[in-house]
Amino acid sequence: MKLYTINTGYFKLDGGAMFGVVPKTIWNKLNPADENNMCNWAMRCLLIEDGNRLILIDNGIGDKQDAKFFGHYYLHGDDTLDSSLAKHGFGKDDITDVFLTHLHFDHCGGSIKREGDKLVPAFKNATFWSNERHWKWATEPNDREKASFLKENILPIKESGQLKYIETSADDFPGSLKVRQVFGHTDAMMLPQIEYKGRTILYMADLLPSAAHIPLPYIMGYDMFPLTTLNEKKSFLTEAQQNNFVLFFEHDPQIECCTLELTEKGIRKKEAFTLSEI
Ligand SMILES: [Zn+2]
Repeated sequence: MKLYTINTGYFKLDGGAMFGVVPKTIWNKLNPADENNMCNWAMRCLLIEDGNRLILIDNGIGDKQDAKFFGHYYLHGDDTLDSSLAKHGFGKDDITDVFLTHLHFDHCGGSIKREGDKLVPAFKNATFWSNERHWKWATEPNDREKASFLKENILPIKESGQLKYIETSADDFPGSLKVRQVFGHTDAMMLPQIEYKGRTILYMADLLPSAAHIPLPYIMGYDMFPLTTLNEKKSFLTEAQQNNFVLFFEHDPQIECCTLELTEKGIRKKEAFTLSEI
């Protein structure tokens, strides 16, 4: 099995929303804001080559929204989904499975492209994986979260016939990939856990968007159920620290992966490294 980091570019989000109750005087040292209070974040996906499967975990913000929408997010950087796949000798048509941790637009926007006036899957040979509970949550959204669930990212996946639901009891994926579920950021977000070169890698998605979010109170203002996130963070961080797991960050602007250590202040980042260094 091989793993590849797939950078799909950077965007900006409001620092206050990203750090929740933590004051700017503190978080601004970790991820400095620009003049509009916006901080820089990655949209870092993961590609798993396992036998004849080529599994892409999340796919960034995509390119089909209008200028007004993208104007809120200040997309920048040289990497795109296509250029990052090409760097490893792959194209979108090679992808056999698109695993969507959840259906927020910065995680699944690349799933669908425009073709004339139609919206069609950007991965024509892939099965798209979500779960029934999250799909229902995203397609019947609450008013606080619905700006993150864009119909044009989601509904065409089902219409294409390429959507499948993961049942946590079912053996949908190669044995090296296990699916964990969490419920604080949004309902039934899925975190892939991968066995690779003797290490266990946890793809953190929005449970822990960056290494700066490791201390327990650092919970995004976007989260639907922050106290649930708090408990999930505690439990995942403890398990990861005790077992020397590698955390993989989707949104950290610098740090791709890290391990954890227990300090007198609690669990903190130990070593930072890239996936290719494992
Ligand atoms: Zn999210």
